[in-house]
Amino acid sequence: MDSINYNEEGVVFDIQKYSINDGPGIRTIVFLKGCPLRCIWCSNPESQRKGKELMFREILCIHCGMCIKVCKQKALDPKNPNFIDREKCVMCEECANVCPSSALEVKGKVMNVEEVINELKKDDSFYYRSNGGITLSGGETLMQPKFAKEIFKACRSRGWHTAIETEGYAPEEVVRDVIPHIDLVLLDIKANDDELHKKVTGVSNKIIKRNARIIQEIANTIIRVPTIPGINADEKEFGDIVDFVKTLPNVKELHILPYHNYGEGKYNLLGREYELSNTKKLEEDHIDKLKNIVESKGLICKVGG
Ligand code: SF4
Ligand code: SF4
Repeated sequence: MDSINYNEEGVVFDIQKYSINDGPGIRTIVFLKGCPLRCIWCSNPESQRKGKELMFREILCIHCGMCIKVCKQKALDPKNPNFIDREKCVMCEECANVCPSSALEVKGKVMNVEEVINELKKDDSFYYRSNGGITLSGGETLMQPKFAKEIFKACRSRGWHTAIETEGYAPEEVVRDVIPHIDLVLLDIKANDDELHKKVTGVSNKIIKRNARIIQEIANTIIRVPTIPGINADEKEFGDIVDFVKTLPNVKELHILPYHNYGEGKYNLLGREYELSNTKKLEEDHIDKLKNIVESKGLICKVGG
């Protein structure tokens, strides 16, 4: 077996335990930072940029002024509606270190594979008992391919089931290098129409479609469609996505991920705007219609992760 490089480093923005979504059994989800897409509905906007980010929760602030005193860049100012001037901030983390109420928090931590595995080991009895394992998510995991690959290798060497949530936007050589170390790929397809895809994610879907073909030849693959009213939830665009999925011979299952706005508040914490503020959730009967489209094409359909 390949040796494992436990010193390989990457940027992690969260580790979530006891998840029952995102793969079989009880799982730990490791979220890696950085994503080449900018989906306008993204519920983890703090995952998008590769480096660390400072989040400010105004509601927790007790206005002690300690952060302002330690900031050498003078980036913090209560008169600024966003509090943080992100042009001036150099991410020294001093303010978050002194904040007594955790109103300031840095998202993104450099970890090596050994540190990640030590964290995952704490729950390995759950993985064994539930046939669960670990899922790498993001951001886009494939933006940190060496780190992801070594984590997957280390997990597999312990007999843990490995899964990835991916947008599939990566060079072909990265896909061919990392995917063979994964038991289950949860691959997002967000739009079939390329112009629409560019408009709502910032990138073309050509690379994603090419990679979808490669991935489903290598690993067990489930397609997931974040289904967003006004974007891809109409029967035409959704039906076209399903037709594309039907061209992938080894894919038997498609999951509908109905739109939610759980991430909306985080945009504020990052000083960014959320474009879908007025978007309503999908009605149950509309979700049923979309499910029928999937099933009528002979695919297994689940709603939710
Ligand atoms: S991270 Fe450093 S530079 Fe940025 S606001 Fe905090 S103290 Fe200032
Ligand atoms: S240190 Fe924390 S609690 Fe104090 S003013 Fe700054 S953000 Fe608010």
